[in-house]
Amino acid sequence: MPIFEYICQQCHHQFEALIYGKEKAECPKCHATKLEPQLSVFAVSAKSPSASASRPGPCASCGDPRGPGACALGDLD
Ligand SMILES: [Zn+2]
Repeated sequence: MPIFEYICQQCHHQFEALIYGKEKAECPKCHATKLEPQLSVFAVSAKSPSASASRPGPCASCGDPRGPGACALGDLD
């Protein structure tokens, strides 16, 4: 469930709020809805390693390091 951190623009009270769907957060102190969202808490990004996709492997049939099919290129005589 999403937890957002806000600073109330009216009384400057800082708090965290759980927001469900289109529900709007409000300051627990003065019940104002003019809030400034704080984004620093959820700056976590899910990085997926994709190193294996950048370089083609050796030819599957003969092991030529130039890549799949490379062994067949200069071999047309
Ligand atoms: Zn407030």
